[in-house]
Amino acid sequence: VLMARRPIVGGNWKCNPESMAKLDGLVENMNACDASKCDIYVCPSPLHVACVCSKVKAGINVCPQNCNFKGCGAYTGEVAVEQMKDLKIEWVLIGHSERREYFQESNDLLAEKMKLILDSGMKCVYAIGEKLPEREKGLESTMAVCIEQLEKVKGLLDPAKVVIAYEPVWAIGTGVTATAAQAQETHAEIRKWIAKNVSEECAAGIRIQYGGSANAKNAPELSACPDIDGFLVGGASLKPEFKDIVDAIS
Ligand code: PGA
Repeated sequence: VLMARRPIVGGNWKCNPESMAKLDGLVENMNACDASKCDIYVCPSPLHVACVCSKVKAGINVCPQNCNFKGCGAYTGEVAVEQMKDLKIEWVLIGHSERREYFQESNDLLAEKMKLILDSGMKCVYAIGEKLPEREKGLESTMAVCIEQLEKVKGLLDPAKVVIAYEPVWAIGTGVTATAAQAQETHAEIRKWIAKNVSEECAAGIRIQYGGSANAKNAPELSACPDIDGFLVGGASLKPEFKDIVDAIS
């Protein structure tokens, strides 16, 4: 008997807001969410993480947007998983396309980070997704990118500890969402690949979130798809609308 996958919705604030004065309003948006029917996490910018930890209600998990590839020590500008654990943080997001693109994070580095996160007893949201030229070439080239991004972490995939965020890069922050059919097809292919390359059990249990211009309007149709287990939300997580996205999936 397969356990139903519990939906999971994350809000990625990226490098926002610009002031502490605006932070409380964003925390309020999170605290307004009904966390009884799904897992919820929020990814504040590193400077705001500790403050947000002290302000979110029970059921809202703080999930930093990145972590150091090693522990504490001489790594200027970095935040270590030990420091997160000390704040009772359980989740870390890695592999966001903006990290891959602007900070040259490679699949090798991300595999190292995921291992470190899991070894430290924490859980990991791992973001993957193709760019526009690959999508335009079709499902096969789209999947080639996703597989490349999954290949080095496949030995680490564990439904209890890892969530995959499938985020087509062309849909991030653009207002263009993948259609429900497009997203469902890709999620199903990712699951199929995991079934073949990890295990049937892992494929059936692992949660795959959709990200890329998700909002309150498109959330119901996307979340009704059998292989979409929630959302990673950027822009709309900075608005009260985030709560409606959570409601749409529960
Ligand atoms: P978006 O961002 O919802 O603004 O497209 C999603 C993300 O980058 O996680």
